[in-house]
Amino acid sequence: MPKGVRCLVEECIFNEDRDCIADAIEVRSNGNDIVGTAKGTLCATFRFRNFDQGVQSMQPSVHA
Ligand code: SF4
Repeated sequence: MPKGVRCLVEECIFNEDRDCIADAIEVRSNGNDIVGTAKGTLCATFRFRNFDQGVQSMQPSVHA
């Protein structure tokens, strides 16, 4: 991963102090035919970090 990829998605297991530590990322359009703003993109490399369990997990916790 090139240095300088700053990411504020702290819920991702690849996020370390607001930097992305993944070897590579894939960014895709968000399903719209036309991507006119940043809201039209998403990081497909995102994997959920489960803070509730005290361990990293790819499964989001669901609270009833
Ligand atoms: S993989 Fe994507 S969402 Fe996760 S830290 Fe890197 S840039 Fe952010």
